Amino acid sequence: MLMSAMYIVMESQFDYSVHDMPVLRRWWCLLLLENNSLNSCGKIFAHWTKECQELIAGKHTPVFSLKRKAEQQDIEETMTQTASDVQRMCMADSMQFCVYQTSNNTGERLLYPEVNFMKWVQCKTCRGWLHQDCAGIEMEPFDCGCEDSIEHPRIKDAVDSGGIHAVFSKTQIKTLHDDLLSGKIRSNRMFLWRNPATSLRLKQHLKIRTLSWSEQRMFELLRFIEEATTISEKIKRGEIHLLDFVFDVMLPELLIKALQEHGITRFRAEQMMACGNIF
Ligand SMILES: [Zn+2]
Ligand SMILES: [Zn+2]
Ligand SMILES: [Zn+2]
Repeated sequence: MLMSAMYIVMESQFDYSVHDMPVLRRWWCLLLLENNSLNSCGKIFAHWTKECQELIAGKHTPVFSLKRKAEQQDIEETMTQTASDVQRMCMADSMQFCVYQTSNNTGERLLYPEVNFMKWVQCKTCRGWLHQDCAGIEMEPFDCGCEDSIEHPRIKDAVDSGGIHAVFSKTQIKTLHDDLLSGKIRSNRMFLWRNPATSLRLKQHLKIRTLSWSEQRMFELLRFIEEATTISEKIKRGEIHLLDFVFDVMLPELLIKALQEHGITRFRAEQMMACGNIF
């Protein structure tokens, strides 16, 4: 009955049948056994108690876990994420590299306010959390890059000796451009380019400052971007603001993309861009 009540409250589809009842009963019994000491009986079901909030936030380590059905797992994960979004901190946020820029100080999410469900990944080493968007790559188990175990690709060297072609392709640039515009890839820079008034200070913070390529290589890359995306035509027709787009969005996103192809997370790529040692 509690189970049904929960589903109704969460407005979820009923995805269990009478055949699941023995498993569900066992699950509930285990929950009760795990979480109720003699003097805190029932606290777990009262949403205002610390015990219950911790359970929802996934901070309770169960003594025993049942294997869940796939659909059930999805629903439970969504519940966990919703509850813990409030408390979980994206590692990229303190350096102002988070795609969403959640902030513990203001309690405000500045970017992509329309996104309700954010996926999270946890680093196997430091146990820190990142938004899936702030990681930008998928791997199992997830490694945020804190161990610095992935060898730094020598992008600057490759570009210096082989030219832009050695690292970037027009197809890659075109795909990235389209994904940024469609929102398939979420980027703080893209959001701020579209909504600069959100935070000019942040927009400034995310500008590329440390590119040590020769001017010739730089010019080549900008040319490459313009050609791959037809931005060039538009700039010639007077849409000068697109120059900003090339510098402030496409260029950094392209460098991040290049690093991600070496298994480096967006978060780590941002740190590398900020210290500039590989560009
Ligand atoms: Zn984030
Ligand atoms: Zn880590
Ligand atoms: Zn390093």
